[in-house]
Formats: sequence, structure tokens, C-alpha cells
Amino acid sequence: MPELPEVQTTVSGLLRLTGCKIKKTLVYNRSLRWPIIKNIETCLENQTIINISRRAKYIIVQLDVFHLVIHLGMTGKFTFSEKNIPLKKHDHVEFFFEGTDEILRYNDPRRFGSIHLLKKQDSLDDFFLFKKLGPEPLSEEFNHEYLYNKAKSHKQSVKAFVMNSSVVVGVGNIYASEALFMSKILPSKAANQLSKKKMITLVDCIKKVLELAIEKGGSSINDYFNTNGQSGYFQIELSVYGRENLPCNICKTLIKKITIGQRSSFFCSVCQR
Ligand SMILES: [Zn+2]
Repeated sequence: MPELPEVQTTVSGLLRLTGCKIKKTLVYNRSLRWPIIKNIETCLENQTIINISRRAKYIIVQLDVFHLVIHLGMTGKFTFSEKNIPLKKHDHVEFFFEGTDEILRYNDPRRFGSIHLLKKQDSLDDFFLFKKLGPEPLSEEFNHEYLYNKAKSHKQSVKAFVMNSSVVVGVGNIYASEALFMSKILPSKAANQLSKKKMITLVDCIKKVLELAIEKGGSSINDYFNTNGQSGYFQIELSVYGRENLPCNICKTLIKKITIGQRSSFFCSVCQR
């Protein structure tokens, strides 16, 4: 599943479309997680791409009078293609641009992704999918004071807490596990039991883990945009995630796996307290 760093990498890969005018849009399958609206083809005609950015795991394409809001779901992916290359299975949408033969294709085998078209005059913050989102993890708004205050009312485990998108967006399972290991905090510890000092470390580590992953992603944009769809997901060097029964890099204790909030959690019972 694309996580925040992969979405950021996708945004970086798409940025070269800034300034391009959409000539034509073809939709072959509207049944994504939410159906693509019927008149999207006419709405997008002659719209210029002004900017492309990210909010949580959503890609926001700013156009003349619209915003396109795209979520990659579980398996969504963009590829650039030449016009004589035939469509691949699960290519659901094609975007054509003025002055170039390059075509942008949206492919999504499981169709959990979504493409929404919003009027630009409507505030993005009011968009139903954005309403409950917490701050961006790499923003200044996400700091230890914010997290400490937020945790006061949360008895749930710290791992579920940081993965809750109303607390902070974009901290997926891999990055939550890794940041907790780096912070030396047990994933099952109650969020409201963490000291201020621990919160400082945790916030710092979440930012570090994500920054590192984005940095690695930045160097693998071409990979991410290649056509086989498998090799695209880059990975940071993982200390605990997926390493059950392998020795901890620090103390050699075997890494344990537990389930928290229906998600696998990996940790070192000696290093993390
Ligand atoms: Zn250890």
C-alpha cells in the first residue's frame, strides 16, 4: 500500500506536468472506491495544471477552476506512457496533454483508489475526506506539545494513537513500528502514559523515519514510475518491521510480533520500554 513517502514520491514524479494543459481525458472504468463523476472528461478539458501537492495520502492537482483530489488506495499508480503503447490491464483513466505525446495513465488493480473533482472556490478543508485529518507529520504544527496534549484523552496504545489520522496523518504501519523502535517506546504502551520527554523523542523519530523514506524515494522516482508495479515501493532499512524472530540490531534479542488494532506490530522487548 502506498504510504506517505510513496505518495510524496508520486507527487515529485508528477510535478513535471506543472504548466501543462489537459487536452483530453478518457475514463475506462469509473468504479473506483467512489465512482468518478460522469462529466469529468468535459470539466478537465483545457484545464491547465497550476500545481501538484500532497495532503495526507491525497494528491492534489490544482487546475484553473478545479482541484483534482486523488488517492492511490491499495494499488493505485501513475505511469507515463507513449501513445503507441497499448493500455495495460487495470489502466482506468488516461490524461492527454497539449504539445506532448506523453500520456498519463492511472492504473489500479484493486480499485480502492479515488479521483474526486472539486470546485476550486470550495475550501479543501471542507472536503469530506479532509475534514477529520490531523496535522502533517513534517509540519511544525506536529510537535511534542501538540502530541502530549492530544494523548491526554487517549488510553489506546501509542502505536494505534500515532496511526490515527485524526491525530497525525501519514504514519503508516511500517513507519509507526520503526519510529517506536527508534524512540525506544513499547508499541503497546498507553498513549496517555508517555512522559513529555518521551513525546519529544517520539515526534523527532517519526519525522526522521519519514524524512529518510522520502529522501530514499526521491532517488527512486524512476523505479516508482516504471511499469511493472512491483518494484516501485522503496524501503528504508527496517530495524523491526517484518523482522519477527530475527535478532535486534542493537541488543540481539529476538524481535517479537504482536497484533495491535488488527495490525502487526514488531518490537524489541529489551530496547523498547
Ligand atoms: Zn533490542
